[in-house]
Amino acid sequence: MKSNQPSKVALITGGTSGIGRASALAFAKENYRVVIAGRREKEGAAVVAELKALGAEALFVRTDVTRESELAALVARTVEHFGRLDVAFNNAGVEGQFGLTTAEQTEDHYNHVFDANVRGVLFAMKHEIPAIIKSGGGSVVNTSSAFGSVAVAGGAVYVASKFAVVGLSKSAALEYAQQGVRVNVVSPGPIQTEMLDRAFGAGESDGKKGIATQVPAGRIGTVEEIAGAVVWLSSPGASYVTGVDLLVDGGYTAR
Ligand code: NAP
Repeated sequence: MKSNQPSKVALITGGTSGIGRASALAFAKENYRVVIAGRREKEGAAVVAELKALGAEALFVRTDVTRESELAALVARTVEHFGRLDVAFNNAGVEGQFGLTTAEQTEDHYNHVFDANVRGVLFAMKHEIPAIIKSGGGSVVNTSSAFGSVAVAGGAVYVASKFAVVGLSKSAALEYAQQGVRVNVVSPGPIQTEMLDRAFGAGESDGKKGIATQVPAGRIGTVEEIAGAVVWLSSPGASYVTGVDLLVDGGYTAR
């Protein structure tokens, strides 16, 4: 039976490609209205067209998550356009540069990675959570990484940024548990996206084959495998799940 309730609204940062795009499509298939955010307008418009082709109402809001004012405007635009916010997936992130020892790190590199991965998540939640509370409660999922649980030599800044995402999320989970907002983390292992192509080379590169051998599942994961976890974490089926870091990593961190 179709409900008379307006369909829920999901906001996804980093929705212009990869895990964010796949999650936007997965939310649309679950009857959500979807807002995607990112900096690339052409890619944003293309994802909106895909969402509309699935029958979903969809909106792209050009947003740089390193700027709090743009995150505030994103949430305001979402509420203005759709009247509510139920689910936020703070997924925008950058990998920075791997292969730098701690002694080789620079302030510019630190700022580049932390501004997107940590500042972007903190100030997204700052503006999303009050809007979610006003809508009667809901869910936030933030993207960390397997490298938010274990380190890799040469990846100190990215690793630290993803550990920080877990800390921010657990803190917010405690703060808002009594106000009907669940806050969880999804932590992907290696997933086939543009980010993996940038890090290890496009196509069937030797770098990717090497990474796959480090995963107990023996392969790189798909964006749909992350999207499924995000949609579940955001669903009523996860109503008692908050403050969790859900590793979707083919067993990478189980060793
Ligand atoms: P991706 O295709 O490169 O996606 C990254 C997304 O982040 C893009 O949509 C990009 O959009 C957005 N973004 C980056 N900086 C931004 C900024 N300043 N403002 C707004 N949006 C920004 O790679 P992905 O693998 O799907 O990455 C998504 C998330 O998964 C990231 O947080 C990443 O760290 C995490 N992750 C990925 C893997 C993996 O193996 N792929 C593993 C663990 C964790 P615009 O370029 O349009 O701004």
